[in-house]
Amino acid sequence: MNLAFKQTQTGVSIFSVMTALAQEYGALNMAQGFPDFDCDPLLLQLAHTYMSNAKLQQYAPMPGVLSLREAVSRIYSTEYKAQFSAEHEITITAGATQALYTAFSALLEPGDEVILFEPAYDSYAPAIYLQGAKPVGIPLLPPFFEIDWDLVNRSIGPKTKAILINNPHNPTGKVWSESDLNQISALALKHRLYVIADEVYEHMVFDGLQHLSIAGRKELRECCVLIGSFGKTLHATGWKIGTLSACASLTRILRQVHQFQVFAVNHPLQHAIADYLSEPSRYQNIKGFYENRRNMFLKALDTQRWQALPCQGTYFQLLDYSACSNLPDTQLAEILVKKHGIACIPVSVFYSQNPKPQLLRICFAKSDATLFRAAECLNAVQGL
Ligand code: PMP
Ligand code: GLN
Repeated sequence: MNLAFKQTQTGVSIFSVMTALAQEYGALNMAQGFPDFDCDPLLLQLAHTYMSNAKLQQYAPMPGVLSLREAVSRIYSTEYKAQFSAEHEITITAGATQALYTAFSALLEPGDEVILFEPAYDSYAPAIYLQGAKPVGIPLLPPFFEIDWDLVNRSIGPKTKAILINNPHNPTGKVWSESDLNQISALALKHRLYVIADEVYEHMVFDGLQHLSIAGRKELRECCVLIGSFGKTLHATGWKIGTLSACASLTRILRQVHQFQVFAVNHPLQHAIADYLSEPSRYQNIKGFYENRRNMFLKALDTQRWQALPCQGTYFQLLDYSACSNLPDTQLAEILVKKHGIACIPVSVFYSQNPKPQLLRICFAKSDATLFRAAECLNAVQGL
């Protein structure tokens, strides 16, 4: 793999591009996924306490602070009836981005293929290419982004090493059903594939739906790798602390790689998170909280013009504008940020091939005032 290949397969993340444009044009940043409100003051207080502890200013243990791994183990057990040993099966990472990268670099060899579903989160393909492996995208189409399982089956070949799922799914807001997970299980077992499950939005599922974690699938225990992020759950994306969980034999390999990628993660903040998670309602309440944000935004939006697609989870809402414009979403996103004061993500960039639907992604992890202003900006757009 030469340098030019590495450069073409990575490029600049759409999140950096849109955030820079939002800043340049003084637009509302509804593009990059982060809350514009403060996290819980109690979490900050705990962070201050542990930051001030002189004994915690040096390296954390390589796999992570044990009390935090125990908290993660408790969540798997309480929420999904799954047993993951804090000592041997859970590793704390520098965010989900590192957890994903560690999983790819530990499990993939040059020439391997990874099945993934598009629109796909933007770090997946570059991180897979950097291992000399290749992503194989299965397109999902609006409005329901259902999975063509025959196509998935046909796309699996002798080089396929893993299947990567993101549930709840960014950017579509799709929450995977039990029958989806049954299909994944059957394919993974039949073809002996790893299942890498990015579940960073696991606690944001709406309308009475339930998140079905891959952790709960006993038959996948030896081949699944689970990815989580406290950035999402604690409204603190800047902390960059995540989780990587797998059976003990896979964890041994994952940790071998992890130790040479970061070795260990921010020490005091791991303690703060461990303490904070001792009360389950602190992560369980966020589903109602974000369901309200979504509803508030949709109530204020002119949904005749901006057709809101179903959003079952995550903190992203997709808007389909194909009924009133032929503009590609990349062009519309540019017009919106430069002329209408609002930055969104054009969803086509998450597809590797056509057809690329005309969709914009709005992040609704925002204060009431920001959500109302965003709806006002969109409602005021004339003559698309
Ligand atoms: N996976 C998905 C689906 C995401 O949306 C994100 C970003 N927020 C990540 C992984 C990366 O998470 P982190 O910020 O913890 O690295
Ligand atoms: N995950 C966030 C999103 O989907 C952004 C992460 C990033 O900026 N790299 O918007």
